[in-house]
Amino acid sequence: MNQDLAPTTEAVYKLIQELNKLPGIGPKSAQRLTYYLLRAPEEQAKLLADAIVSVRQKTRLCPVCFNVTDSNPCLICRNQQRDRNKICIVEQPQDILALEHTGIYKGLYHVLHGAISPTEGVGTDDIRIKELLERLQGSSVDEVILATNPNLEGEQTAMYLQRLILPLGIRVTRLARGLPFGTELEYADDVTLTRAIEGRQEF
Ligand SMILES: [Zn+2]
Repeated sequence: MNQDLAPTTEAVYKLIQELNKLPGIGPKSAQRLTYYLLRAPEEQAKLLADAIVSVRQKTRLCPVCFNVTDSNPCLICRNQQRDRNKICIVEQPQDILALEHTGIYKGLYHVLHGAISPTEGVGTDDIRIKELLERLQGSSVDEVILATNPNLEGEQTAMYLQRLILPLGIRVTRLARGLPFGTELEYADDVTLTRAIEGRQEF
């Protein structure tokens, strides 16, 4: 084995450790990626490093919907072609990507950045609920679509939001039950998601 690539090298060890912290990357994958990057053209490794730095420097959260954006407000909030009377509530920015990919929903969004989870210590004040209520007060919104994940935390969050939003005189709907329980929105396929949006029901 080439001594330069021995896993005892501190720089190598450090990269393996950092990659291992990423979701879905176990120790084996972290090792594989590290050795791949060691052998790849230097330019490729540099492009990856630059992309990581610039995604943090050049993006922020939209002050209206809390989607990840590089413009203020984000392109969706800014788009006058979208139906401004509908707001779809999602847990994470990547859920917007999944829903946008279906092309069927033309309203606005609100990203909670999490779901209520007493077991993980996430309370109602830890996600963007206050901002949602402020946004709804005195707005022209006539329907809120609860698109939190079809799992325990997502259901709890949806029920909590429903209790807060219904008294405002706004229709509250929930994505149809076509989504299997326990899954996450971002992994749902287009057909299932399209059906879930079209078949949304009063909640
Ligand atoms: Zn926005």
